[in-house]
Amino acid sequence: MNKQAPEIIDSLEDWTRTHDCGSLRSEDVGKEALLMGWVNGRRDLGGLIFIDLRDREGMTQIVFDPNESPDCHASAQLLRNEWVLAVKGQVTHRLEGQENRELPTGEVELKAHEIKLLNQAETPPFQVDGIVDASETLRLKYRYLELRRPRVFDLFRKRHAMATAIRSYLNEMGFIEVETPFLTKSTPEGARDYLVPSRVNRGMCYALPQSPQLFKQILMVAGFDRYFQIVRCFRDEDLRADRQPEFTQVDLEMSFSDEEHVMTLFEGMMSKLFKSILGIEIKIPLPRLTYREAMDRYGTDRPDLRFGMTIRDISDLASQSDFNVFRRAIGEGGLVAAVVVKGGAESFSRKALDEFAGTITQYGARGLAWIKIKEDGWQSPIAKFFLPGLQESLAGFLGADPGDLVLIVADRPAVVRESLGKLRLEVARIMEIVNENSHALAWVTRFPLFEFNETEKRLTAVHHPFTAPLEEDLDLLKTNPEEARARAYDLVLDGAEIGGGSVRIHNIRVQKEVFRILGISPDEARAKFGFFLEALRYGAPPHAGMALGFDRLVAIFCGVKSIREIIAFPKTTSATCPLTDAPSRVDERQLLELGLSLQPDFV
Ligand code: ASP
Repeated sequence: MNKQAPEIIDSLEDWTRTHDCGSLRSEDVGKEALLMGWVNGRRDLGGLIFIDLRDREGMTQIVFDPNESPDCHASAQLLRNEWVLAVKGQVTHRLEGQENRELPTGEVELKAHEIKLLNQAETPPFQVDGIVDASETLRLKYRYLELRRPRVFDLFRKRHAMATAIRSYLNEMGFIEVETPFLTKSTPEGARDYLVPSRVNRGMCYALPQSPQLFKQILMVAGFDRYFQIVRCFRDEDLRADRQPEFTQVDLEMSFSDEEHVMTLFEGMMSKLFKSILGIEIKIPLPRLTYREAMDRYGTDRPDLRFGMTIRDISDLASQSDFNVFRRAIGEGGLVAAVVVKGGAESFSRKALDEFAGTITQYGARGLAWIKIKEDGWQSPIAKFFLPGLQESLAGFLGADPGDLVLIVADRPAVVRESLGKLRLEVARIMEIVNENSHALAWVTRFPLFEFNETEKRLTAVHHPFTAPLEEDLDLLKTNPEEARARAYDLVLDGAEIGGGSVRIHNIRVQKEVFRILGISPDEARAKFGFFLEALRYGAPPHAGMALGFDRLVAIFCGVKSIREIIAFPKTTSATCPLTDAPSRVDERQLLELGLSLQPDFV
């Protein structure tokens, strides 16, 4: 018997694929087929040899019979996982009882007559098609092996389908895709810039764009009217688990329009995406909450609306109790608020409730009060502070019935809202209240224009400095700027902010006023955005826009937890790329050309 592995052929000669590895069905039985793909696994049963051949579309079982094609069978004995093959054969039914119901091709197999070896492969560092318990670094180093799995490929097919649907929708709506520079000047989205030193202009740097914000506004001044771009943005932030230093936005801007136009446009886009990708009809117009309402009811500006359990202000009733903690909080201008966990009385032990109390200390809360409503009254450490009549009033006000659990926090309003907002999510997670296949989209509007930055001791822009104030709050810019609200809107999906935008300032006077409030001096403004301020002088039309975080949206549509799964070559949480080993040291010569030298600590 020939024990030599078949020779690797250099050209496909006249061999052309007739099918992919996911497409043969019982209707094809009797046909000749030619497949190409990777060896996913080999089973040698003494007589017959079976090979699962894999490509991005799926897997087909190939059978090698020594009686029918002895040469082919002999070659098959030497094949290894991940070798690349071309196989000619006849489609046959699998033997009765041998069908694989899990595989779409599982009723058939290909009886091989002839094979060509297209390439060999080293033994992979982890099994390509199996449960991977390899470390993230190893998986990213060999990311191409992970991407080789059909179910991983499917994520990218979906990503592509979403990008295609978005492009075609925006095209229909009269938007044109325009590329904007990557080598540019800093854009003020509030993160640190990635800098690129210039060789030709020594001592100077470009910044990679945090977003195309200024360019898209300038395109409006240019009369482009409707711009979009599916574009990479770069932000040098400390990485949290699910952040990437470079990420993709669906970025757009439209002229002669306001928040209504932008929101309607995105509702149309969402409705199309949900329908075409997930087969879900969403109801539009989407619900809208003001920032204030979102904070009051959900304790966050990105509420998960897939379930209720809203935060209720119970300060009035709490002030009638004898519980000092409540009375003191109210006396100090604080808030007493509650969430009702329907049917939660039996779900949480005292220990679990103590753990909740521990959890919310990280948001500044000093304690958690709880009430288990029972048929025969309250079971609660604070029951004794509420006279029976007051107990009923509170339960009645909250709509709490026997079997329910009430969680209460008393503190500064911001602490109360954040703590209850986080508990609400935690309780929903533990009780599995949310159906993972359900989705809830909503707009959050009227954000504050500015917020006080404790470290810098000054006001900063909540969205970015080009966001227009609400018309009715314009006067506040002079008197109480921190109370002014913005014509900004965020799109929230299942508790994640997936996009945001605003009506822009197109009036240079208002823009200057905003810079003044932000403590940006005229000189600094000129140095940083002089080009933009100048453009605003040349007939800027009213305009508004928005950007959608495409990676997060794809991850939600794919039902995966991390955006890293739907980025072909993601970075680790320490911003490295194990595949290419970036970032890496560069030649001394390159540094010299750039006029750079490293500080001794970094050499
Ligand atoms: N440039 C903004 C961002 O990246 C989006 C916008 O205002 O259009 O968040």
